[in-house]
Amino acid sequence: MAAGLRFLPKPWRFLHQLNTEFSRLPRTAIPACRLSSTTSKTLLGEEAQAENWRRRVDLAASYRILEKYNLHEGVCNHLSMMAPAANGDGEVMLVIPYGLHWSEVKASSFVGLNVKREVVEGEGEADIAASTIHMGVHRARPDAVCAFHVHPPYCTALGTLKNPELGMHSQNACMFYNQIAYDRVYSGPSVDEEEGMRTAKQLGDKSVLFMCNHGVLVVAPNAARAMDHTYYLERACMNQVLAMSTGQELFEIPDEVAKFAYEQIDGPGIRQKYCDAHFEGMKRILSKECPDFME
Ligand SMILES: [Zn+2]
Repeated sequence: MAAGLRFLPKPWRFLHQLNTEFSRLPRTAIPACRLSSTTSKTLLGEEAQAENWRRRVDLAASYRILEKYNLHEGVCNHLSMMAPAANGDGEVMLVIPYGLHWSEVKASSFVGLNVKREVVEGEGEADIAASTIHMGVHRARPDAVCAFHVHPPYCTALGTLKNPELGMHSQNACMFYNQIAYDRVYSGPSVDEEEGMRTAKQLGDKSVLFMCNHGVLVVAPNAARAMDHTYYLERACMNQVLAMSTGQELFEIPDEVAKFAYEQIDGPGIRQKYCDAHFEGMKRILSKECPDFME
């Protein structure tokens, strides 16, 4: 038995062994991400365990990928994902225990919190802001299987302006046409459930929330989409901030063109294909450079 493996709970030990075998397959045999917004409440027994592990692997990949893109900040910020509980009893919210660097995150690292924010899977404590903000959002938005909260430099810079709006100035920005909500009231770090509920209310039915003077929140039905959106949101903000830094006037893409671009990029079956390709490409890089993310 590999060192450390004995400390994993039994179901994860079995799944870890399966995953180790899986990681030895030729890279071309790695299947595409299979996560979807399908409710995990319907999964039972071994199916629930297997899905729990699959989501752990994809959430660990998300941490590693965003760290590679330098979209993390120290050991702060948090990505969460809802999953069937490994013991088959309902759902858990997976988050990393506080203090782990994103480059160290593995599938087995996560703690699973129940709806009362109690740790019911794994060991360690979740960051209070992670548990309050994320649980509030997941409860209010069952379609948001993933909730990624980060402080990337360009998104955060834009969110500090009196007018923090991402204008339709680039194709990257058009990917978020009518998808962004703005919370302009910064009230300090989140320490209670009320703040989580308030954040969810501000997000409404959008997929992105600019938490002004703080960071951003991206929600999505799967890890591939949440990772891809987080990456492109930062790129769109970078495009705008760099353009603004020239001091020249920015050209606003006409509304009907921005809407058309969004529909072409985000139409049914289109965006998810791009998100999956991006995610799987990055996972292939991780599997060569740091395959321990799957442990
Ligand atoms: Zn934050």
